[in-house]
Amino acid sequence: MDTAFLEELIEYKVAPEPLIAIQGLLNTHDYERDEELLGDPAAAADWLAGAGLLKKGGTVTEEEYRDLLWLRQTLREILEAQSHADLDKEAVNALRQLSDKYPAGYDVSEEGLVTLCLKPVDTTEELIGQLVGIVGMAQDLDWWKRLKICAADDCRWAFYDSSKNRGGTWCRMEVCGNRTKNRRYRSKN
Ligand SMILES: [Zn+2]
Repeated sequence: MDTAFLEELIEYKVAPEPLIAIQGLLNTHDYERDEELLGDPAAAADWLAGAGLLKKGGTVTEEEYRDLLWLRQTLREILEAQSHADLDKEAVNALRQLSDKYPAGYDVSEEGLVTLCLKPVDTTEELIGQLVGIVGMAQDLDWWKRLKICAADDCRWAFYDSSKNRGGTWCRMEVCGNRTKNRRYRSKN
């Protein structure tokens, strides 16, 4: 994957590799500016190739496109519930369905070590399996709980909380945190 490409989109509070791929995917819809980078299968193929997730010339069918957006939405719902110490069972069920439909690929090293295949793939079918695998890998490494959705309703940017106590709520305290506080203050008066 092309981490420089992904970092340019994410800008701040960037997740470690390979979780950065999920963070990038989540931020392909910018709620604040109402911008969509994955507007159709062709746009999705371009973005995925730019991010080094799909090989150049890699394909996105209509069905894979719908499922890719479904995965993005599902992960957002899971993370939003998680930030309220909650579990979105419907979203978990959706993730299971996607995982069943799109199995992940593995690499086996000379020494016999089996790891999730993280190489750029030819089809979005392979990619969806790989992305679900990255979620599992992040959970094993205890990174998953650090991936959060900004609590400001008009922001909802996915950020990586590397703070010691994992207590971050906003992607940028000085922007989203203060904006939310000011609004609360105004609404009281
Ligand atoms: Zn924010």
